[in-house]
Amino acid sequence: MLLDNTKNGFILKSNFELKKAYFLFKVISSRTLTNFGKNILELSLKLKLPVLFIVRATVFRQFCSGENFQESFKIVKKLNDKNVKSYLHYSVEGLENEKTYDNSLKEVIRSIEFAASKDILDFTVFKPTAIASSDILNKVTEEKELSDFEKGLYDRIVDRFDIICKTAFENQIKILVDAEESWFQGAIDDIVLSMMIKYNQHNTIVFNTSQMYRHDRLNYLNQLKKLSIENSFHIGIKLVRGAYIEKENKRAKKHNYKSPICGSKDATDVNFNEGAKFILSNLDNFSLFCGSHNEKSIYGILDIMKVGKMQKNNPKIWFGQLYGMSDNISFNLAEEGYNVIKYLPFGPIKQVIPYLIRRAEENTSVKGQTSRELQLIMKELKRRRSN
Ligand SMILES: Cc1cc2nc3c(=O)[nH]c(=O)nc-3n(C[C@H](O)[C@H](O)[C@H](O)COP(=O)(O)OP(=O)(O)OC[C@H]3O[C@@H](n4cnc5c(N)ncnc54)[C@H](O)[C@@H]3O)c2cc1C
Repeated sequence: MLLDNTKNGFILKSNFELKKAYFLFKVISSRTLTNFGKNILELSLKLKLPVLFIVRATVFRQFCSGENFQESFKIVKKLNDKNVKSYLHYSVEGLENEKTYDNSLKEVIRSIEFAASKDILDFTVFKPTAIASSDILNKVTEEKELSDFEKGLYDRIVDRFDIICKTAFENQIKILVDAEESWFQGAIDDIVLSMMIKYNQHNTIVFNTSQMYRHDRLNYLNQLKKLSIENSFHIGIKLVRGAYIEKENKRAKKHNYKSPICGSKDATDVNFNEGAKFILSNLDNFSLFCGSHNEKSIYGILDIMKVGKMQKNNPKIWFGQLYGMSDNISFNLAEEGYNVIKYLPFGPIKQVIPYLIRRAEENTSVKGQTSRELQLIMKELKRRRSN
């Protein structure tokens, strides 16, 4: 099978790096060890103990591309040599206030301008809550009345989205807008829709994200298609399953409403695959950025492309994976000529620690993914030993 080729999958990893990755995924696969590591790390940072060098040599190297643009660009070039593209994200999470939103806005603009200055970077990304208050977005989503002060804050949010999308448009860099929790995603969807209408008239610059663990998202995609025909614009969709399942279900239970999440993993899988099929059947209207590590879904998309006689490098179809994960998918698809792109988080080590902790915790809860990583690394180490 295409994605089982570990020689391609780990082509950029030395034996030492593979062994290190094995050790890391093994630790991460244990909830006890992950929690222990997290607590020790937080305590050491509080006590100002010199632990950052350990973080740098382990999780940081595995999941982040560097501390700044220059360091990250070295990784971008290495990946590009194997036909794997990159998109960079300054993954620093901080306090939420108007000052930090304006600082994040500057960082996003910098990342667009950096991408535009290099001919091997086509995409960039931002997380709405880095530039916008989730409370205001929540009120707008739930159609609650805003005070004059809040209206001012909301206008500023729309301005920030517009500045980002306009800069992306002027530099012809595609911009992915991450999806977040459902209780404030409605406002994000509306703002991104207005940006698509404004900046996707001739080609697809702005991409919204559709989380297919939500049972209303096939409807959403259908609605978008109708709107794109009425308003003649191109739709960009990053299709993902969704990252906030525990929070979503917990909140729905607490406030006693029906969870927006599909009732089972199987139902999410069906919804995701249907979403991909719908988009691929409507490529006149849509571009697809498939953000997934699920091999079955990817094989499904490859089948649809084959049956539909779509070119492997069709500029409207992209496959995205996170840096440090599922290299077997990225490098094998790229080797076959598909459009592949890695999400590269970067930033000063101390400030990307929340991202790294989330990565470790997510891998602990996504058991199947971690054991797949371990199994593939083992297979490759064995193959190298027998050569
Ligand atoms: C490039 C890229 C960009 C991403 N951007 C975003 C983003 O903007 N917003 C975002 O929310 N996430 C984002 N993600 C994360 C993504 O949503 C998934 O959490 C992650 O990729 C795991 O899903 P998977 O498709 O790889 O496959 P799998 O590992 O097969 O699926 C795991 C996913 O299935 C769903 N699931 C698991 N158990 C159940 C259950 N019991 N009932 C219902 N559903 C279940 C959950 O969504 C879970 O994350 C991104 C991922 C990638 C690779």
